[in-house]
Amino acid sequence: MGAIVAIVGRPNVGKSTFFNRLIQRREAIVDAVSGVTRDRHYGKSDWNGKEFSLIDTGGYVLGSDDIFEKEIDKQVELAIDEADAIIFMVDVEAGVTGMDEDVAKLLRKVDKPVFLAVNKVDNAQRMADAVEFYALGLGEYYTLSSINGSGTGELLDALVKVLPDKHEEESELPRFAVVGRPNAGKSSFINALIGEERYIVTDIAGTTRDSIDTKYNRFGFEFNLVDTAGIRRKSKVKEDLEFYSVMRSIRAIEHCDVCILMLDAARGFDGQVQNIFWLAHRNNKGIVILVNKWDLVEKETNSVKEYTTKIKEIISPFDDVPILFVSVLNKQRIFKAIETAVEVFKNRSKRIPTRKLNDVMLPIIEKTPPPAYKGKYVKIKFCTQLPTPYPQFAFFCNLPQYIRDPYKRFLENKLRDHFDFTGVPITVFMRKK
Ligand code: GDP
Ligand code: GDP
Repeated sequence: MGAIVAIVGRPNVGKSTFFNRLIQRREAIVDAVSGVTRDRHYGKSDWNGKEFSLIDTGGYVLGSDDIFEKEIDKQVELAIDEADAIIFMVDVEAGVTGMDEDVAKLLRKVDKPVFLAVNKVDNAQRMADAVEFYALGLGEYYTLSSINGSGTGELLDALVKVLPDKHEEESELPRFAVVGRPNAGKSSFINALIGEERYIVTDIAGTTRDSIDTKYNRFGFEFNLVDTAGIRRKSKVKEDLEFYSVMRSIRAIEHCDVCILMLDAARGFDGQVQNIFWLAHRNNKGIVILVNKWDLVEKETNSVKEYTTKIKEIISPFDDVPILFVSVLNKQRIFKAIETAVEVFKNRSKRIPTRKLNDVMLPIIEKTPPPAYKGKYVKIKFCTQLPTPYPQFAFFCNLPQYIRDPYKRFLENKLRDHFDFTGVPITVFMRKK
């Protein structure tokens, strides 16, 4: 799991310009591999080998100007809650504004690392002008020009130094996060799972903040629920706004092994649900889809089949995902949901011995070799599963650059046919040998 960095600041200071500069190079590669459309305000970045998630909070502000200020305050508060570090961006052209002062006031109380980034410092004169931002009482600042890139290196050097080293620990216990839009039935589901206190085994202390994992023993399974704290703290943020559900989802997803993605059958697998789905996918988490409130749906013979097909069309090509139709209200298939999540967890931590993998894959490759490219013959010699927390496979060959995405997808499908990876994103790499 990676650290989360939030960029806050009033509109027009250059947050999205900065965000795009950090995300672009990397995401261009990811997009080409997965074919996934990306969220313009959330992405992965890395600096000096340290990976982190970056959130442009400004991108999630909705509504008209008059609610703007209130919105920004809430945004900052949430960013403070959920992020590991905060970049507070201001604009040297505009100088210190009232809104900057308000944000600074909130940030001064925080015990998380805050980086004051004075943007639009495109020349030496502006470097001198930046000094006025000392008045915000946040100490040292970093000057940068998001447009031409100068200064961003110094900021990132300092940033990655303070980010926690969060290697994904190989916990024996599955960590589940229940995610989805507001009102899908997530709290009802969690309450059904944890209703009775005696099922709570222990709180596992988080490293830098209050605990986010709680251990449960239910239906004969032991698992950790991630970010139930979010449920307990629910009173703090009640609004049905995309920003909140996205921010919460990001944090919960980053910390789990398997996402239980819940949706309201009547509302369907809409854009927001899709965003959360792709978030989980991009983070290589296991996924189980629960279509909830199935009790309210007027069923015909093919309802389940049709609904399933519709979802699979949307999530294609990653459609090897369990989809269950549940009613939390009637406690229908709740046990099945947890059982399935446990299976997905096992699939995600599955290791195929190299010998067995080659015994299965090499004959397939021999029968259907990668197509020749520009008259060059591509030969795959062997393959192996990498020792990563989620399934990644390396295929060694003479001309890795000539193997195109369709053939990688073919290999992925064959892997899925022969070894059960249901619910789990897998990555296929080509390496030179
Ligand atoms: P956001 O609303 O905070 O996300 O701001 P944007 O990234 O949309 O930028 C607002 C405007 O400032 C755009 O016209 C950008 O081109 C411009 N801008 C962003 N960074 C810089 C910079 O480093 N120097 C200058 N001169 N302009 C910038
Ligand atoms: P959350 O915002 O995702 O945590 O959703 P809640 O758990 O608060 O549920 C939202 C509403 O949906 C509540 O009124 C629940 O009683 C209702 N609800 C949850 N699950 C079901 C279900 O399976 N069937 C029906 N009919 N209602 C449900």
